[in-house]
Amino acid sequence: MRIEAITVIPQVFEPYVTASILGRARKAGVFSFEAYDLREWTHDRHRTVDDAPFGGGQGMLMKPEPIFEAVEDVASRHAERPHVVFFSPCGTPFTQRLAERLSNEERLLFVCGRYEGIDERAYALADEVISLGDYVLTGGELAALAVTDAVVRLLPGALGDEMSAVDESFSDGLLEYAQYTRPAEYRGMAVPDVLLSGDHGAVDRWRRESSLVRTAKLRPDLLASATLSDSERALVERALAESAPRAEEGGEHGQAL
Ligand code: SAH
Repeated sequence: MRIEAITVIPQVFEPYVTASILGRARKAGVFSFEAYDLREWTHDRHRTVDDAPFGGGQGMLMKPEPIFEAVEDVASRHAERPHVVFFSPCGTPFTQRLAERLSNEERLLFVCGRYEGIDERAYALADEVISLGDYVLTGGELAALAVTDAVVRLLPGALGDEMSAVDESFSDGLLEYAQYTRPAEYRGMAVPDVLLSGDHGAVDRWRRESSLVRTAKLRPDLLASATLSDSERALVERALAESAPRAEEGGEHGQAL
């Protein structure tokens, strides 16, 4: 997959996409990544990319011309037309499902906003607009990196173990089960016996139960779209009834679900 980003701070991408899992995947040719400096498509001495908003108000907006020219120029550099993604708090919330859909694209081109945002006309270039969540960042770069990260780890060959992307949070509409590694006991906290039993059937059942109870307690909203058997539904109802009066006690993590 070819991933490209248009940004006013291209230097922030390289450290992340060269490190660890992404770095290995990039070296192995699973994806390529290139960040372009939007200022390359300005024509004035100061390389201006922003201007004051019509109608007044605070801050500066990104001008449409450099963005149009940059997207058109970068897009034309390869035969494959890119899927163009803009980032904005007004976009579609980013989810694992969206990451899965984007992982089927051959070429992604990200446009990162800055300042108070982007002239509305530039969104005509967007195939889609994505929000990282209900908060405001200073720019779209972290959103572009988050989407790159979530998408790349779904590509064949990106993770060492092909299975590890299958069995995790959201892949079946639920949160992942609790996990443990050595030591079996630490500071008085023991790993559940069943995980040490070597009984794979029992381990699978425990994991499914952990996943269901944890989802019911931490993210009951996710259960609406999950497929559950009658007994699983009953288990979830019990977990929900239990968690309701204790909701203010704080985190579920560490309760060995
Ligand atoms: N004034 C805008 C926010 C601008 S923040 C508003 O109120 O909607 C500047 C840039 O940061 C945006 O253009 C966008 O590219 C990026 N950004 C900020 N928050 C974001 C979020 N939650 N998700 C995705 N991109 C975001």
